[in-house]
Amino acid sequence: MTIASINPATNQTLEKFEPLAKDDVIDAIGVAHGAYQGWRKESFANRKRCLLKFAELLRAEADQHARTITTDMGKRIAESQYEIEYCAMIAEFYANGAERFLADQPMQVDGVDAYIHYEPLGVLLGVMPWNFPFYQVVRFAAPNIMAGNTVMIKHASNVPQCARSVESLFHRCGLPDGVYTNLFIPTEFVETIIADRRVQGVSLTGSEPAGAAVAALAGKNLKRSVLELGGNDPFIVLEDADLDHVVEQAVKGRIVNAGQSCVASKRFIVVESVADRFLAGFKEQLSALNMGDPMDEATTLAPLSTEGAAVKLLEQVRASVDAGASVLLGGDRPDREGAYFNPTLLTDVTPDMPTFDQELFGPVATVYVVKDEAAAIELANQSSYGLGGCVFTADVDRGRRVAEQIESGMVFVNQPTRSQAELPFGGIKNSGYGRELSHLGILEFVNKKLIHLG
Ligand code: NAP
Repeated sequence: MTIASINPATNQTLEKFEPLAKDDVIDAIGVAHGAYQGWRKESFANRKRCLLKFAELLRAEADQHARTITTDMGKRIAESQYEIEYCAMIAEFYANGAERFLADQPMQVDGVDAYIHYEPLGVLLGVMPWNFPFYQVVRFAAPNIMAGNTVMIKHASNVPQCARSVESLFHRCGLPDGVYTNLFIPTEFVETIIADRRVQGVSLTGSEPAGAAVAALAGKNLKRSVLELGGNDPFIVLEDADLDHVVEQAVKGRIVNAGQSCVASKRFIVVESVADRFLAGFKEQLSALNMGDPMDEATTLAPLSTEGAAVKLLEQVRASVDAGASVLLGGDRPDREGAYFNPTLLTDVTPDMPTFDQELFGPVATVYVVKDEAAAIELANQSSYGLGGCVFTADVDRGRRVAEQIESGMVFVNQPTRSQAELPFGGIKNSGYGRELSHLGILEFVNKKLIHLG
């Protein structure tokens, strides 16, 4: 197995990394477990000082880290810069809020006082994906470090420079050794870590197969788990929506991170009375995207994360087209070096086609035309995923009614699903379970201990 940084804009290998031996991993668990004995008793004030320093370092070194993201996985440099700023915001949110989120919760039952007292659990494993290589790690690590847990990270094998940089930041912000550990390891070692009695839980963000594998290991070893998996989010357009706004948001929702976001809008479900106008506007704006070097500020469409990702996406698109889908735009890869994919618009996709219920991880939008609102809701729910979703309408009450009928973890009215430190993030169905971010995110890996004073 290879852990390597390969720039997807050029397909050139930049650096290779040696994986750890299994004994090194066992030793690292020992260090993380030892660190936990002290860290669990550390004051919120001291934990907070470290995370605020982490945020300060991120901002001071933002350009350097943004370039690392872009060279590791190809994201547009402006998006990489925003990712760094957003990580600083998440670190500050938990640094400032953790003590309040984890304050004792008093209750009285049968006239007797009792309370819920939150305590950390121990060493946790985070298995992370490449698509937001700083953010995914920080949204797991920041709340858990503030809660008094210690964390070990197995990052995706194609973003090792990011993995190394995040670890360096967590070390330099003043955390004791072992509170944050990066592990360059093959996926087989995940089983050893989850099975270790000193490890108390695992959080995975990634694909369904990886989620199912890790959940099975967690179940076998009776370890707590959180899964943040894929999505096939509906973007519903009702007839009363402001179409100029809708089209602009549709492009934004689909093209974020070159289409490689779990909560990117993927299925555009449009009522028939506005479908022609929507399609014309969407096609025009997708065609106008400026594909190019992700380091160039003028680029609006970056490459995918790896050559393999572009090959897989092409196979998925071809499978739909072979089965009868129509291509209104793109459908193929450009004749240029790098993991690029042309902006693509598919229609006439039906439930019998393989891609109907698959996540298309790239700049490929599927547009469905439906009769009315009820049909839009029905189609939106015809998915094995249930992560995010959005509905566009001039009537916010109507938007709320539709949102409440969508089977997913997050629904936004009049904007695509997005992530913010204060808002809970997570899904249902095959999109996983548990929540990250907000006050809910810090409650996943703590003991909600009842103390009864009767
Ligand atoms: P992936 O292939 O599942 O990889 C994610 C992580 O899991 C990587 O560290 C990978 O290691 C590891 N992994 C893969 N198979 C494993 C196994 N059998 N046992 C243990 N670990 C395993 O996913 P990806 O391609 O990096 O990420 C894209 C997917 O993540 C998409 O489906 C996307 O929607 C989803 N995602 C979800 C969220 C969310 O919050 N819901 C956010 C972002 C992304 P290697 O790299 O070494 O294979």
